[in-house]
Amino acid sequence: MSEDTIFGKIIRHEIPADIVYEDELCLAFRDVAPQAPMHILLIPKEPIAQLNLAQSDHQQLLGHLLLTAPKIAAQEGYEDAFRLVNNCGEKAGQSVFHLHFHIIGGRDLSWPPG
Ligand code: AMP
Repeated sequence: MSEDTIFGKIIRHEIPADIVYEDELCLAFRDVAPQAPMHILLIPKEPIAQLNLAQSDHQQLLGHLLLTAPKIAAQEGYEDAFRLVNNCGEKAGQSVFHLHFHIIGGRDLSWPPG
């Protein structure tokens, strides 16, 4: 579990977000500081702080997120190429401690990441 975060407030509709997908397990909304033409954050409604704190009983939820990400990319018109990013931990660039996947696309993406 995690402390409440700004994403918790978005889940509870306490603050606005540009929501592009929602189901009983997860929510997706546009990143407020987009790094590409498509930059969406996909989050579980259950507040897991970061990926390495997920437990075996989250297996179905994590699978659901991975299967939902391509559907959202397709909905946005980027079914052919997108990048799914998880920053796990502060040193990896995580700034909001509610598990989230960045779904990024719509431009050429370089590798390796910074
Ligand atoms: P990370 O640095 O991997 O934890 O990603 C957090 C992301 O959340 C960043 O890309 C921020 O731009 C984004 N972000 C923070 N607050 C909001 C918000 N209220 N609505 C949408 N995106 C947000």
